[in-house]
Amino acid sequence: MTTDTTTETTATAGGERHAFEAEVSRLLHLMVHAVYSNKDIFLRELISNAADACEKLRYLSLSEPGLLPPGHDGFRIEIAADAAKNTLTISDNGIGMSREEMKDNLGTIARSGTRAFLDQLADKGGEQKQGQALIGQFGVGFYSAFMVADRVRVVSRKAGSEEAFAWVSDGKGTFELSPADLAEAPAAGTRVTLELSADAATYAEEATIERIVREYSAHVPVPIRLAAADG
Ligand code: ADP
Ligand code: MG
Repeated sequence: MTTDTTTETTATAGGERHAFEAEVSRLLHLMVHAVYSNKDIFLRELISNAADACEKLRYLSLSEPGLLPPGHDGFRIEIAADAAKNTLTISDNGIGMSREEMKDNLGTIARSGTRAFLDQLADKGGEQKQGQALIGQFGVGFYSAFMVADRVRVVSRKAGSEEAFAWVSDGKGTFELSPADLAEAPAAGTRVTLELSADAATYAEEATIERIVREYSAHVPVPIRLAAADG
């Protein structure tokens, strides 16, 4: 195993496969085995990222209105639960991510909340059970999606860009980055699709999602819409 903090890259058919930073793999392992944790918090994390992205674009568009895609009629977060496919999709029409941003933001531990979590975990001796109890207390972020998903797919288009990219991972060491069809990408923003694990099927039910949104995301400054599954 390499301890290099940069990600390794190999070319694959549709794009590039990258190895997660070693610390991310550690965190992902914890997430996948988070049996003692309150898994509901993954949705709070994804909604908070979506809201942050909307706030960023809202702010930037004050000085650069051209960043808003044509027909933009307000910021929103959409959540679609599909029980038939056992998927959950969280979409936002916020700032989006470029290819480089997807690689850096969804592949390393550059972020303070996650860093604080890992530091705290190290202080406690790095015990699996301790870490799991800590998960709910920290902003463990995007990677918490792997508590409930076997596979996560992120399609993003940065505001003002003519390109979109897809990030896909099963959380087992690598992620794949490839160009995405503009037709299947948001006009600007990000769509996160969780292929839920068999024991997390409750998160494909609207009633569960409604309850969690009420419980954890009541004060998010961007409207949240629960969309009917279109599949
Ligand atoms: P944090 O939100 O604390 O920075 P996360 O792990 O939740 O950490 O997210 C990592 C980074 O990935 C974010 O800082 C942001 O740059 C990027 N990101 C995640 N989700 C989105 C999204 N929906 N839209 C735009 N960027 C995102
Ligand atoms: Mg976050």
